[in-house]
Formats: sequence, structure tokens, C-alpha cells
Amino acid sequence: VTNLKRVFDVSAPLLNRLLEGKGRSIVRAVDGVNFSIRAGETFSLVGESGCGKSTVARLIVGLYEPSDGSINFEGVEIGSGADRAKHPDIQGRMQMIFQDPYASLNPRWRVGDIVAEPLRFRRLLTNRAEIDKRVGELLAQVGLSPLDARKYPHEFSGGQRQRISIARALAGEPEFLVCDEPTSALDVSVQAQILNLMKDLQRKLGLTYLFISHNLAVVYHVSDKVGVMYLGRLVEWADTKTLFDRPLHPYTRMLLDAIPDLDMTGRARTPVAGEVPSPLNPPPGCSFHPRCPLANDRCKREVPKALPVEGGAVACHAVEENRLPPWKAQAAA
Ligand code: SF4
Ligand code: MG
Repeated sequence: VTNLKRVFDVSAPLLNRLLEGKGRSIVRAVDGVNFSIRAGETFSLVGESGCGKSTVARLIVGLYEPSDGSINFEGVEIGSGADRAKHPDIQGRMQMIFQDPYASLNPRWRVGDIVAEPLRFRRLLTNRAEIDKRVGELLAQVGLSPLDARKYPHEFSGGQRQRISIARALAGEPEFLVCDEPTSALDVSVQAQILNLMKDLQRKLGLTYLFISHNLAVVYHVSDKVGVMYLGRLVEWADTKTLFDRPLHPYTRMLLDAIPDLDMTGRARTPVAGEVPSPLNPPPGCSFHPRCPLANDRCKREVPKALPVEGGAVACHAVEENRLPPWKAQAAA
């Protein structure tokens, strides 16, 4: 993903609310987002609600078209709808799993038909008996019974419904799954079961994940790399361990300060201070400056560029100007 931009985002609920009664204002939902995901790894995007994570997910699977920038899948450009149309095979190799299993399953369809839909749509199988057999295998693969194919979504719990969504996604034989807050609607104990299932499937099937979450504790456990978004920009990304051991961006540090101890440093918990400003009217310069304890005059004028650092990249003037205080864990060591 290179220099990804989407200027107007009609689906983000936060933006929608802001835009009500204001006509079609131009909102840069996402701007200058750059990252790459290796086959077989899990790359997570984190940030507070409204930071553009879901927009990036939808751009990648082609639900939205970027106004500028590039999305590249194994060397093939699929950024624009026209590019994507030239490669229908690639579209089939990626699937999306949504946050709300209640809303994403058709209540009038039997589970068997829901799971079979990608098989039929991609014409992977056409024979009824073969489809039934494959649906049974897919349900077993996600920890459900092949007999569940005859039931309707309302007969299942939230966690089971997310298992059905995963089975449906796997039916299309994807290599790359974009998972937008796949466990946020679930109870904590059920979350862990679904995350474990996703890890197992990744190992068995060699899947690659883009994982969207606002929950850093979850991200810590599932990711190989983590990208942190703020007001539509990717402000830092790094290997998971690097990011949690030595966060550089002040926003990343603020998020880490707010989560309960991840058996690393015994640090106390500080709630996230302030609120995300309106994306309609983002602050000039570094859009984090009104909340940043390290902001200076340059921060108020100039958007920081992403600098490569060991294990990742960070967009912050304080890092470039070498005036970033050590992280608490480093200071204590
Ligand atoms: Fe803070 Fe400036 Fe860095 Fe933005 S660029 S995060 S305002 S120090
Ligand atoms: Mg979202």
C-alpha cells in the first residue's frame, strides 16, 4: 500500500454524523498511508475510532476506490476499480471478515447456503453433493458441526456466528483475510476462542491477515507487525515486539500507557487524554499536536514525514530532531 488516499468517506459513521447538514464537505478519510504485508504474517492497524482503519481495510478489499495512491498485490496493481476489474482472480484471493456477525449474515438463509455462497459465486463447485460436503468440512474447520448447515443464524451465539462468517470467508479459498474488528462485538472469553481459531487457521492454511483493532492488548497477541493510525495517517509502524518495547510516536506511547500491563514493565495505567479532533477540520501540521506533550512550532506547521527506523518507521518531528525522551521501560532499565 503506497500513499493511499481516500478523500471522501461516506460510510464511516463518525464522519457521516459530522457531515450531516453540512453538504458534501471534503474529508480526507485517509492520507499518505504506506505499509506492506508479507505473505503468512499478521499486520495489525490500531488507533481510536474514526482514525481511518476501516477505510484502509475497505480500500484494500476494493469496497472503496482510492482517490490517489497504489495498492499492490504480489506485484499487480489493484488500486483503481479499473485495475481490479482486470484481475478478478485476485479479488477472489482476498476476503473480508466484519466486526458484527449479526449484521453480516443473512437471517433468512440457512447457514449451509451462507457458507456455500462463495463456492457458488466463484463457481469453485457446482454439484449439490460436492457443495454440501465442502460446507460440512468448512463448518468442522471452524469448530462447528456439519449438521449446523441446516440451521439459521439466529440459532447461534455471537461467537458461533463469527465462526460462520469465517467459514464463509474460507469457502472462497482466500490467501489474504482482512479482518475488521472481528472480535470487538464478543465477550472477552469468546474473543480469545475466535482469536485462537484464527491463529490455527493461519498456521494450517498459510493465511495472511490484515487485522483491524482498537484493542492493543489483542493486537499484541496476534500480530507480527503493528501500524498505528491517527486521523487518517499511519504515524508509526514496527515489528510487534519493537513497537511495544520502545514505542517512538507520542500517540503510540499514549495508547500504550492506557492499556493494562502486558507483563512487560509493571507500568501504571494512564487513561488516554483528550479527544480525536474532527476529521472535517484536522489541525494543521502534525494533526496530533493539540494532544502532544512534545509539540513545538514546527509541529503546528509541518506535517511530519515517515522516517525509517530500526524495525519500522515513524512520522514525528521530535524523533527527527532527537528530542524524544526515553520510553519509561528504557528509563527504568
Ligand atoms: Fe508531537 Fe510534533 Fe511528533 Fe506530532 S510531530 S507527534 S506534535 S512531537
Ligand atoms: Mg471501524
